[in-house]
Amino acid sequence: MKCSHRHSLSKDKKFAHPTCPDPALQYTSLGPQGFHVSARLDGYHPSLDGYHPVAIGLGANLGPRLQTLRGAARSLEELLRQPRFSTVYETQPMYETDQPSFLNACGVGWTDLGPAVLLDRLQQLERDAGRRPGGSRYGPRRLDLDIVLYADRVVESQDLTIPHPRLLERGFVLLPLSEIAGPWIHPVEGLSIEELAADVDLSGVEATNLHLD
Ligand code: AMP
Repeated sequence: MKCSHRHSLSKDKKFAHPTCPDPALQYTSLGPQGFHVSARLDGYHPSLDGYHPVAIGLGANLGPRLQTLRGAARSLEELLRQPRFSTVYETQPMYETDQPSFLNACGVGWTDLGPAVLLDRLQQLERDAGRRPGGSRYGPRRLDLDIVLYADRVVESQDLTIPHPRLLERGFVLLPLSEIAGPWIHPVEGLSIEELAADVDLSGVEATNLHLD
């Protein structure tokens, strides 16, 4: 979808076009709150001029967890437009329960990268944070970055599943994500993140007063 006013999304300009008559595009003028407003448009998440809304899950349970998550958030700020982050949650490990507790949060923003390239960049950030290759799928890690949602896209490839395949069972993703993108509709379930969060087991997911920014 293009705005007929052809506003620019170049890096040094804001996503600002306050006079655009199309309500589906006005969120570009709303600054940091813009993303949230766009998510209220009946769950419709237009990609705009080649930019796509994306939700990313962050987690860490080894090393200086908060410092690592904050470092990852700074890198995501470079990678995404209009990035916003949830608060941080302290969560008990699922699947492999005999490991340290996690700090988890979620971020949203806009990207012009395709899903595969974005995953590549996230995996580079994991390595930069000292994550070693290999290790068990649900085992301890210094940094975990997942693509949770990418616009209203459904992707199923060997390396990538979007929406994230375990989102529905993960209170540690749904709860932080509902803070910043509650109305975003899961493209397969047809339910909002808020609704999914209301239905998930939240035991072991504790709010903190920690922030990533
Ligand atoms: P993890 O150990 O949880 O970081 O899982 C990483 C693996 O999951 C990688 O090999 C990815 O290719 C794969 N994967 C599949 N879907 C996703 C997704 N939506 N976000 C991140 N990794 C994914």
